[in-house]
Amino acid sequence: MPIPESAEGRRIYEEDRAHVFHSWSAQNALDPLVITRTEGSRVWDADGKGYLDFSSQLVFTNLGHQHPRVVEAIRDQAAALCTIAPAHANGARSEAARLVAERLPDGFDKVFFTNGGAEAVENAIRMARLYTGRYKVLSFFRGYHGATQQAINVTGDHRRWPNDYGASGVVHVHGPFLYRTQFHATTEDEERDRALEHLESTIRFEDPDAFAAIIVETIPGTAGVMPPPPGYLQGVREICDRYGIVMILDEVMVGFGRTGAWFALDNYGVVPDLVTFAKGVNSGYVPLGGVGISRPIAEFFGDRPYPGGLTYSGHPLACAAAVATIKAMVDERAVEHAARLGEEILAPGLARIAARHPSVGEVRGLGAFFALDLVKNPVTREELSPYGSSNAAIGAVLAACRDDGLLVFNNYHRIHLAPPLNTTEEEVREALAILDRALEVADSYVETSAGG
Ligand code: PMP
Repeated sequence: MPIPESAEGRRIYEEDRAHVFHSWSAQNALDPLVITRTEGSRVWDADGKGYLDFSSQLVFTNLGHQHPRVVEAIRDQAAALCTIAPAHANGARSEAARLVAERLPDGFDKVFFTNGGAEAVENAIRMARLYTGRYKVLSFFRGYHGATQQAINVTGDHRRWPNDYGASGVVHVHGPFLYRTQFHATTEDEERDRALEHLESTIRFEDPDAFAAIIVETIPGTAGVMPPPPGYLQGVREICDRYGIVMILDEVMVGFGRTGAWFALDNYGVVPDLVTFAKGVNSGYVPLGGVGISRPIAEFFGDRPYPGGLTYSGHPLACAAAVATIKAMVDERAVEHAARLGEEILAPGLARIAARHPSVGEVRGLGAFFALDLVKNPVTREELSPYGSSNAAIGAVLAACRDDGLLVFNNYHRIHLAPPLNTTEEEVREALAILDRALEVADSYVETSAGG
């Protein structure tokens, strides 16, 4: 990233480098973009260069930046009542809880608020353990649930490794993912059936009576946007019912319209026992997350105290932002718009891009939630790894996007496109054109021979 030219931009950059300890990074390798203005689907750096923000930051600005109704709601709430402890009742909190519950499946009346996704996961697991009196939790290798201790233990991928002290009771399995199948499957049906067999036999070998919960992202997000095959989540539901296990769907990334439905679970007609959410609930303007709780679990805690709480649970500023976000999404038909953008512009546009670029192995997604799986070898599907001989490729694609004014979300060998739900068709076309050009860099790393 170029160091800002403006004096103010430079001052921010240097102060950040001197004092901010950043997440997930070697501190000396950092080169952050200084952002000084945001609006809608765009952000501007300290020198006034504009970028289309198709990362939605960490996939949370579902209504875009600086939405006037959300900004005004936060301002009004701050003027009227900034904060009040969770034990008291507050109008912003009760209305936010009702609006969330109304969008969850029938039988979800109650919401426990947190400050973000990981805390939602911690509390959902705690609820499941107390409710069942069991301790084991099953989760997926290709899954992410947050960076607090329990949440990182149930996370499956490399982000868990440095944080894993062999915490007892967490068992990981492979989920369905045909493009990189672990089950030697050739069709979605085979992949689904074998993934379910693998899941159930793992539970049998690990003691079915020990399992409190299965936690799964409805559509795994940071691990690669992998919509499950039809019937998979129903199969998980049946296994949960067969063994008395609580089903937790993690909707932190995919909730609140991201996939063109209020919750991603709506795409599959599956009803879990607990739902975790955060990010899009208020477009991330003020930290907020929570757990949607189905009636039997809520009733379990009717006469028993729930042994968990957070000082800022259901913070009025965050809840006022959630109320305004949800109401604006309804009035602006943002969820329907995202569904249409996905079907009519993003899916066909990305399919055309994939056909032109050998580096694009597969495109997956729906709504405003897509990932491109970049490969070094389209035949073997070897990943265009950010490590090893092709290590410059991903960085070069991201730099080409940025130079042309596009921010995308990147994890490992994938480019994710997750624009705000209310992005316009023109903005999507502009972003696709930039991405199309940037992928030529990735193509230059492709080896065409089988076995490469
Ligand atoms: N679950 C999922 C599915 C997520 O994508 C994330 C964040 N990317 C989390 C949980 C953790 O949320 P937070 O960073 O707000 O703690």
